[in-house]
Amino acid sequence: MNKRGKVFLIGAGPGDPELLTIKAVKALGAADVILIDALVNPAVLEHAQARVRVIEVGKRGGCRSTPQALIERLMMREARAGLVVARVKGGDPCMFGRGGEEVEALTRAGIEVEIINGITAGIAAPTAFGIPVTHREAGPGVIFVTGHTRDGAEPDWRALAATNLSLVIYMGTARARAIAAQLVAGGMTAATPVAVIARASGVDECAELMSLGELESHGLSPSVASPAIIVIGEVVRRQVLPADLTQNHRPVGKLVLVSRRIREMARD
Ligand code: SAH
Repeated sequence: MNKRGKVFLIGAGPGDPELLTIKAVKALGAADVILIDALVNPAVLEHAQARVRVIEVGKRGGCRSTPQALIERLMMREARAGLVVARVKGGDPCMFGRGGEEVEALTRAGIEVEIINGITAGIAAPTAFGIPVTHREAGPGVIFVTGHTRDGAEPDWRALAATNLSLVIYMGTARARAIAAQLVAGGMTAATPVAVIARASGVDECAELMSLGELESHGLSPSVASPAIIVIGEVVRRQVLPADLTQNHRPVGKLVLVSRRIREMARD
C-alpha cells in the first residue's frame, strides 16, 4: 500500500530561526518537499533532510509571486503521491497568511493537514523593541488588522479609533499616512504614540517612534521599509526594556531606534 501523504502548514515566526517551535523543527525534518515563502529565513532549512526538495514560492522585491492556486495544486499533487509536504510561512500561518484558505482547499481535496503555529510578527516585532502588545495600564486589549485588503476595501478606521484599543497593523506601510488621517478623524488624539517596526528579528531590524500626528503629516522614514508592523496606542509608551534601545538618528521629530541585539551584533 502507498504511504499516505500529508501537508504540514508551518509558521516559521518573524525571521529569527531560533523562534521556530520544536514541532516546526520536527515537521521540517520529516518533509520530503518544502514550499518556502519569501518572508521566511532560509536558515530554517537546516532542519530539513539532505535529500529534501525545496520549492521557493512567493518572491518579493518586484517579482511576481507564485499564484495561490498553483501552490495549492502543487501541494495536492505531492501529498497525493504519498509525500510529506511542509508549507512554510512567515509568522503564524493563520494570521494574514492565507493559511485558512489553504487548509480549506486541501481538506476539500481529502488531504490530511496539520497546522503548526508560529510566532506572529504582530507580537514579535513590538516585543523586539520592548513594546508589549498589551499592558494592563494601556487599555483592555489589542486589535490585529491589515492595512491592505484583498478587494482594496478599507477596514473602518474611524470605528477602530473609537474602540480605545491598541492597533497592530500588518501590511500598513504603503497607506500609513492615510490610515493615520482616518484615525485622527475618528477621534484618536494626534498625540497617540506610534511605533513602526521593520524587518523584526532580521539583521537590519529597526523601529521608528512618532506621534499619530507626525505620522499623518510626515509619513514614514525611508529607512523603515517593508515588511513592517505599525503599533498605535498607549502600549508604545510602555517600553518594558527601555535600556535596550539606542537612539540611532533623528529625522524630523521622529526617533529611529536599533535594538540591543543589533548593537551587540555590530560590536562582535
Ligand atoms: N503570517 C504573517 C503575516 C503575513 S502578512 C505573520 O503572522 O507574521 C505580511 C506582513 O506581516 C508584512 O507586511 C508585515 O506587516 C508583517 N511582517 C512579517 N514579517 C515581519 C517582520 N519580520 N517584521 C515586521 N513586520 C513583519
